[in-house]
Amino acid sequence: MLSGKEVATVVRAEVKERVAALAEMGRTVGLATVLVGEDAASQVYVRGKHRAATEAGMLSFDRTLPADTTQDKVEDLIRELNEDPQVDGMIVQLPLPDGLDGNQAVELIAPAKDADGLHPDSLGRLVLDRPGPRPATPAGIMRILSHYEVETSGKLAVVIGRSFLVGRPMSLLLSVKGVDCTVIQTHSRTPDLPGVAREADILIVAIGRPNFVTADFVKPGATIIDVGINRTDDGLVGDVDYDGVFDIAGAITPVPGGVGPMTIASLLENTVSAAERSAAAAGA
Ligand code: NAP
Repeated sequence: MLSGKEVATVVRAEVKERVAALAEMGRTVGLATVLVGEDAASQVYVRGKHRAATEAGMLSFDRTLPADTTQDKVEDLIRELNEDPQVDGMIVQLPLPDGLDGNQAVELIAPAKDADGLHPDSLGRLVLDRPGPRPATPAGIMRILSHYEVETSGKLAVVIGRSFLVGRPMSLLLSVKGVDCTVIQTHSRTPDLPGVAREADILIVAIGRPNFVTADFVKPGATIIDVGINRTDDGLVGDVDYDGVFDIAGAITPVPGGVGPMTIASLLENTVSAAERSAAAAGA
């Protein structure tokens, strides 16, 4: 079992040290969240982010707007946080309620404060393989792979799901120089998905369908990363039938306790990196 929870503990301790080093220079580190509406799952995610930020020694700014707010008000708040020198990293919790445009809101975040790594500037940097904040969930998955020393070079990775949040950036991160996977990016129109997935040395699943990936998708010994978080009558389950594939897989992330904790850890990493860059620029 690849425990994201365990790796997240390591990453969060590293972040805490970096925050403490900045504090010694008299520099605080701040993370702001923008939450619109009262979606229960979003509230849970946002609370988790604040708890993690506070534990790492960061200031955390919890900004909420009612569900019936306007796009203009959301954008005004983002502009205000862009200008706030105490805010180093910012996230807009997606999805926004119906009628509001989440993509447009994310585009307004100052790229230097893009804690989720989802601003077009950050995604462009990812495509160009230039430094910059990486999308938090795929970045967390890369850290799980490196922590557990999963061999990537020359391996075949199959990514199921092509969202801009997870699947697409995941495929890019796996194919860059130094990681060197051969990547097959699949989606809902891919024919014979079990057959394609069965070729994978590394199988990443991010589709949002409970227990969708069963034993017939899995090559013996494959590493499986389950990104899915699905609320069912049986509680939280992933996109992979964990019990059904466990004996065939070489390694697998659980749900919960797999990718989820790493997403938060990566968000904190992006925030402290932003603070370090801004402190360096101020000192230069
Ligand atoms: P999304 O935006 O809904 O995208 C889902 C993707 O899965 C789409 O590309 C879709 O293909 C593909 N898909 C859907 N059904 C499929 C099928 N039957 N066969 C093949 N592909 C299929 O979802 P997302 O934002 O990427 O999230 C995916 C899951 O990850 C969700 O359960 C979400 O809650 C979870 N998640 C977890 C974390 C974490 O921190 N652990 C972070 C983000 C998301 P098309 O493009 O063809 O429609």
